[in-house]
Amino acid sequence: MLTKDQFCVFLDAGHGGIDPFGNYTTNGKKYKHVTGKFHEGTTFYEGVSNRIITEKVKRKLQEKGYFVVVVNHPYLDTTLTNRVKRANQMSKAFLHSIYISNHSNAGGGSGFEIYTSPGITRSDKLAQFYWDNMKKEFGDEILFRPNTTSIYQAKEAKFYVLINTSMPAILTEHMFFDNIDDATLLMNQSFIDRIVKVQVESVENYFINVS
Ligand SMILES: [Zn+2]
Repeated sequence: MLTKDQFCVFLDAGHGGIDPFGNYTTNGKKYKHVTGKFHEGTTFYEGVSNRIITEKVKRKLQEKGYFVVVVNHPYLDTTLTNRVKRANQMSKAFLHSIYISNHSNAGGGSGFEIYTSPGITRSDKLAQFYWDNMKKEFGDEILFRPNTTSIYQAKEAKFYVLINTSMPAILTEHMFFDNIDDATLLMNQSFIDRIVKVQVESVENYFINVS
């Protein structure tokens, strides 16, 4: 029987945030929209959005008695090696851990997708809870972009944080920040809170499933 103090949730907000001088630290992960009101004028900062979601999830999980470690820096874009090394090292103190990397997408498109490492692993269990809870929460409100070649809806990729973590790991792509409608949703408090709710529920589903 796994107890909450034997279980650690590692959270990773992708990229960097805003430094003490007010400068965004990951120039490659931002998008200047023609219109709208985002983090700085019409510009959306992915790393800032990822941090808002991650911090809220952390607080909610801690309220429920979970042990949570945020592996990203408050604003620096620390290397993936650094983030993963931190999680792998700290996870040794726990019987079981999971790793969730929060991102949003870009490159033309809309909607939600989720990634795991190639092959079927325990990560797929966590990803499936997440997918199902997202579906339950958002239904037809947003686009769902599944893996069409597998019985699991998570797409597969050899992302560094997915293949080098020693624990089940997922990477979420919450909407496309270079799509004006998606970016607008990501600025909406209640939309963010629903994503946070889904992430917390999915951790709980997974914890109950393995304990
Ligand atoms: Zn990203």
